[in-house]
Amino acid sequence: MKSTEIQQLINDFPLVKRLIDLEEVSWFNPRATTLKEGLPYVGLNTRDVQQAEARLKRFAPYLCKAFPETQVTNGIIESDVVAIPDMQKTLNQRYGVEVTGKMLLKKDSHLPISGSIKARGGIYEVLTHAEKLAMQAGLLQESDDYSKLFSEEFKQFFSQYSIAVGSTGNLGMSIGIMSAKLGFSVSVHMSADAREWKKQKLRSHGVNVVEYEQDYGVAVEQGRKEAESDPNCFFIDDENSQTLFLGYSVAGGRLKAQFEQMNVVVDENHPLFVYLPCGVGGGPGGVAFGLKLAFGDNVHCIFAEPTHSPCMLLGVHTGLHDGISVQDLGIDNVTAADGLAVGRASGFVGRAMERLLDGYYTLSDQEMYDLLGLMNRDEGIQLEPSALAGMPGPSRVTADKAYLESKQLTAEKMRNATHLVWATGGGMVPEVEMAKYLATARI
Ligand SMILES: *Cc1c(COP(=O)(O)O)cnc(C)c1O
Repeated sequence: MKSTEIQQLINDFPLVKRLIDLEEVSWFNPRATTLKEGLPYVGLNTRDVQQAEARLKRFAPYLCKAFPETQVTNGIIESDVVAIPDMQKTLNQRYGVEVTGKMLLKKDSHLPISGSIKARGGIYEVLTHAEKLAMQAGLLQESDDYSKLFSEEFKQFFSQYSIAVGSTGNLGMSIGIMSAKLGFSVSVHMSADAREWKKQKLRSHGVNVVEYEQDYGVAVEQGRKEAESDPNCFFIDDENSQTLFLGYSVAGGRLKAQFEQMNVVVDENHPLFVYLPCGVGGGPGGVAFGLKLAFGDNVHCIFAEPTHSPCMLLGVHTGLHDGISVQDLGIDNVTAADGLAVGRASGFVGRAMERLLDGYYTLSDQEMYDLLGLMNRDEGIQLEPSALAGMPGPSRVTADKAYLESKQLTAEKMRNATHLVWATGGGMVPEVEMAKYLATARI
C-alpha cells in the first residue's frame, strides 16, 4: 500500500494508527446484531451443524480403535470446562478491573490426537473427505460400523489418494496425524514460524513436511499448487473451507450439554461471554457460529489477536476483509503465538460472522507469556502462548461501559455472567519447550 493510501485509511479509521503502532486495543463492533438478523449472512444453518455432529458420531467407533485415548469419551473428541478462580483474582489485580461473574476455561488445549482446537476442524475435514471417497467406491455406507475403516484393506484404499495443507503448525498436526492414520499420503506445507518439534512429530507419523522460509500465506499457496497438479490430491483450504468451519461449530451444542451438567445457567439474565484466539478465523468463527446457534443472543463472542497479527480486527473494522493484510500497513506478522501468526484473515469467515461477533482486541506477545506463567502458577495448567490470548477478555469487556450499555448488560446481569476463556492449544508441548515458555514469563 502507498503511504498516501495508508494515511487515507487512518483518516477514515483512526484505530488503524494504533494497530500500526502495535498498541493493545479493544474494539466492540457497533454493527454487531442479533442472531436472527445476522444468520442469513452466514450461508450455513442448524441443519449443517447437525450433519457434522452426525458424521462425527458415525466415525466415533473408528476413532476409538485408531486413537485409544479417545475411548474415555467413546470416540468423541471433546474437552473439559474448568473453573479458574485463582487466575480470576490474579487478573482482577493485574488489570485493575473487578470482573464480576465466574471465569471458566475451555480446555481445547488438551483435546486428544493433536492437543489443540484444530482437532475439531482439521480432523473433521479429513474424515469428511475419507467418507466421501469410500462411499463413492462402494466400500462404505452410512449405516455401517465405521470401525471397519481401521483395517489394512482401507489403508490400502486411501493410500491411492493424497492430502495437502498449509499450516503454521497446529492445523498440520491435526490433518497430518489423522490423514496418515487413515492411510493417505499427506504433505504439510509449513511456514517459517512452525516449531521444530511439530515438524519432527509429524515426520514420525510418516507425514511429508515441506518447509518454507516465508509466512503462512505462502505455505498455503504452495500447498494449493501441489494439489492442483494432481487430481488425486485434496487440498484443505484453511482460508475458505466451510467443512472446517462446520467441524468447529459442533462445539456449541456440546458446550450447552456440558453447561447443563455443570448447572451453569445461560439466559437473558445470565449472559455468557466467550473469548476466542483468532488466526485466519475458521476455528474461532466456527466455534462462535455453533455457540450462537446453541445460546442465541445470550452468548457474546469476542476474538483475541496478537498486536503483530491483528488481521481479523483490521479486516472487519475497515470492511476490507481479505482485501487487506497487516503487512500492507507495515505490521510484521511476527508473533510467538502459534496459530495466530496470520497476516490476512479469511474473507469467508469475516463476511459470514462479522454481524454475530461483539468485539475484537489485541494483546502483546509478552502479555501472553506472562499470562502463561500466571496460569501455571495459579491453576497448574500449562498452555501454549496463543491459548492465553483470551485471558484479558473479561477485563476488556468489563471496562467498556459504552459496549455494556449498548447491549443492555446491566451490573446485575454482569454479576451473573459466565466468562469462558477458550484455551486453544498447548497439551502436546514437550517439557523442554514448556520450560522455555515459562522462563519467558515475567512474573
Ligand atoms: C489455529 C489456532 C487458533 C486460531 O484458529 P484459526 O482458525 O487460525 O483462526 C488459535 N489457537 C491455536 C493454538 C491455534 O492453533
